[in-house]
Amino acid sequence: MYPSRFDYLAPRSLEEALDVLGERGDEAKALAGGQSLIPLLKLRFAAPELLLDLGRIPGLDTLTEEDGWLRVGPLARHRDAERSALLRERYPTMAAAAPQVSDPLVRNLGTICGSLAHADPSGDWGSVMIAMGALLVARSRAGERTIAARDFFDGPFTTQLQPDELLVGTDRRRAWRRGVPRGRRAGGAGRIARRGPARVGRVQAQRRPSLHRARPAGRRRVGRGLRRYQAC
Ligand SMILES: Cc1cc2nc3c(=O)[nH]c(=O)nc-3n(C[C@H](O)[C@H](O)[C@H](O)COP(=O)(O)OP(=O)(O)OC[C@H]3O[C@@H](n4cnc5c(N)ncnc54)[C@H](O)[C@@H]3O)c2cc1C
Repeated sequence: MYPSRFDYLAPRSLEEALDVLGERGDEAKALAGGQSLIPLLKLRFAAPELLLDLGRIPGLDTLTEEDGWLRVGPLARHRDAERSALLRERYPTMAAAAPQVSDPLVRNLGTICGSLAHADPSGDWGSVMIAMGALLVARSRAGERTIAARDFFDGPFTTQLQPDELLVGTDRRRAWRRGVPRGRRAGGAGRIARRGPARVGRVQAQRRPSLHRARPAGRRRVGRGLRRYQAC
C-alpha cells in the first residue's frame, strides 16, 4: 500500500523545525530514523499532512557529557549508543542495552529519541530511561521543559509530548551509575539488578512502562543468567 499524500519539509535547523511545528504541529509528524513511522505511513495507520524530516539538521546525533549529565541528541541512533566509547566507559547499562535493539539494519537508522517519542510498549529505551531516572527534554518555540522519564509515557504510543514539541534530548546524571542498574536485557520485560544486596526491579510492558521495585532478592533469585549479562 502507498502512504497518503503529504507535504515534505526538511528543515536545516532545529529552530526552523520548531517554527514549522508551531504553525502546523497538529497535522505534522517528525521523521527521525523512520523505522517505526514509515511502516505506519505505508499501512495508513498514520496519515499526517506534513512530514518534517529531521535528518538534514546537522549536529543532532550526539552523545555528550555536559556538567555531569549525559545528553542524548535527537538523532543519536541505536548504533551510536552501541559504538560509543563514552557509554561503554561511563554509562555501561546503556551501552549494554543498545545492541539488544533488533538487528543492525534497524540500529543503523533508528534513534533513541524516536523510540521514546513513539512509545511502543515493547521498545527498549523507555524502560532503560525509566530505570536510569532520566529526564527527557522537550522543546517548542515557547522554550524547553524537562519531563521525568517515569512521567513521560501516558500509555501505548502516547506520551506527554505536545504536537508543537520535539524531543530534543535525554539527560542522565552520571552519579546514577553508582547505584543503579546493572542491566540485563532492558526491554519490555527486562530485569534490572542493583548493586549491593541483590535487589531486583522489573520494568514491565503494561499500559505504559513503569519500574517495579521488588523485595531484596538472594543470590538464587538473581541467578547465573542475570549475572552473565551484567553490564558494569
Ligand atoms: C523490524 C524492526 C524491529 C525493531 N525492534 C526493536 C527492538 O527490538 N527494540 C526497540 O526498542 N525498538 C525496536 N524497533 C523500533 C526502532 O527502535 C525504531 O527506531 C524506533 O522505535 C523509532 O525510532 P525512529 O528514529 O526510527 O523514529 P521514527 O520512525 O522516525 O518516528 C517514530 C515516531 O516518533 C516521532 N519522533 C521521532 N523523533 C522525534 C523527536 N525527536 N521528537 C518528537 N517526536 C519524534 C515521529 O513523529 C513518529 O511518530 C524495531 C523496528 C523495526 C522496524
